[in-house]
Amino acid sequence: MTLAVSAPRNPASAAHDPARDLVDQIYVAGRWERGQGELIQSVDPATGRVFATLHAATTDTVDVAVREGLSAARTSGWSTMLPHERAAVLHRIGNAIDDARERIAALQTLDTGKTLTETRALATSAANTFRYMAAALETMDGALTTPRGPWLTMSTHRPMGVVGAITPWNSPIASDAQKFAPALAAGNAVISKPPVWAPWVTLLLARLCEEAGLPPGVLSVLPGPGRTVGEALVRHPDVAKVSFTGGTSTGRHLAHIAADKLMPITLELGGKSPTIVFEDADIERAIQGVLFGIFSSSGQSCIAGSRVFVQRSIFESFTDKLVERAAQLRLGPGTDPNTAVAPLISAQHRDSVASMVDAAVAAGARVRLGGAPPQDDRLEHGCYYPPTILTDVTNEDAICQEEVFGPVAAIMPFDDEADVITQANDTVYGLACGIWTENYRRALRIGDAINAGTVWVNTYKQFSISTPFTGLRDSGLGVEKGRDAIRHYSDQKSIYLDLTDAPLAWGAPTERARS
Ligand code: NAD
Repeated sequence: MTLAVSAPRNPASAAHDPARDLVDQIYVAGRWERGQGELIQSVDPATGRVFATLHAATTDTVDVAVREGLSAARTSGWSTMLPHERAAVLHRIGNAIDDARERIAALQTLDTGKTLTETRALATSAANTFRYMAAALETMDGALTTPRGPWLTMSTHRPMGVVGAITPWNSPIASDAQKFAPALAAGNAVISKPPVWAPWVTLLLARLCEEAGLPPGVLSVLPGPGRTVGEALVRHPDVAKVSFTGGTSTGRHLAHIAADKLMPITLELGGKSPTIVFEDADIERAIQGVLFGIFSSSGQSCIAGSRVFVQRSIFESFTDKLVERAAQLRLGPGTDPNTAVAPLISAQHRDSVASMVDAAVAAGARVRLGGAPPQDDRLEHGCYYPPTILTDVTNEDAICQEEVFGPVAAIMPFDDEADVITQANDTVYGLACGIWTENYRRALRIGDAINAGTVWVNTYKQFSISTPFTGLRDSGLGVEKGRDAIRHYSDQKSIYLDLTDAPLAWGAPTERARS
């Protein structure tokens, strides 16, 4: 059987040519087959070269995958398997990801442009996510609840059926793992709709799941346009839940569809996160954290610290240092170990970032660094945009209110705690926040007051799978990660067992239930 992404015989050599094993096939209910939809051209963002083509899924494919997934979860025994048995499969998937780390990293760097350092870390994170969910599943208890009558009362969980996982292009394997692992742990079938701009790593993950013993049909990977394939998945009557990561406007649209179906939907959406630097901060650490917070992943990160508030007394000196250090970040291909800031996902996205910066400058922003695509023969064909630092902006400006999703930091002064809380919270988003101060009482006060699902104090962009992740306001709905992630893909049931032989209510009037 030919598989869509075959496992390399020698992972090290495959790392040199990650496109070598790619085949034009998608994964439909356990079958590798050519998609019936439009042709996707995969472009290396570092060179502009088309390295592979892939036929997308169609809305009919979605229907097949959902129906067969529902049936496969039952007939393969996946949905009724004992938790420790399902956990063993998840554990093997985690180990398989580790074993294929170089292959995954090279492929993801080719498809997204990200640095190899980052794509290796994402692969490791995905492996850990599968193993963590395996451990959580093995140790997850149901509950005997306190009875308020002559019953044994319990709360149990069962699989929901088929779950949809819709993901963006910025961290494919980590986003996939965050959804697949808990949804599979709960005993569901999963239908994944990866992004058109970066579908390959998710197909490779499906291959690894298959080899690790996930029953055929329980997972499908259906790349294709969101407005057709993705939307068909959300609208399908047999899809019991969708977990979506992507832009806020898409998420809002999908929430309407979910509401019509009365279907639960988890939304991990955009952000415009504040990073706050107080005058008492460890300045060197703050510089490092601010740089990493906005320029790692080339700013293509939902949690990017794109609004930097610096206390007025250190505003000029801090900004000077930040500019000086950001100027040293090397722009280059993700495969170069010296690269800090890699290309953006596509020329189209680079142009969108450039036009937002141009508009900010036209509105009065001062460019302290970057501000235009590089004029460098070495980078000529890639989708590069340099680290960009803007000052002379106010928090009301579009550049401070709209998500750029690129390496663009807006630096603004603040006077005191009250001022920075007001400015930081003046946004529709509520994803993350960074606070740099040596005063932990102040850090806790500010952290509590800022509308953000995640607050980092004296660090930024750090994650652990055991800690829940959520976006407030327009940044999302629902929670991912943490032990309870498995519960978010389960239906909860209550069971009452009668413990008496006494007549029931209408047999003889009694006051059985106390309340
Ligand atoms: P996007 O919303 O355009 O697309 C995300 C996914 O949804 C893609 O797979 C896309 O094909 C699909 N999609 C698009 N329209 C759809 C529709 N009508 N029905 C169903 N599916 C549809 O977002 P993007 O540009 O790929 O990703 C960038 C966005 O993702 C940014 O806003 C970023 O902040 C956000 N993001 C959020 C998190 C988080 O955890 N909060 C993480 C990463 C990215």
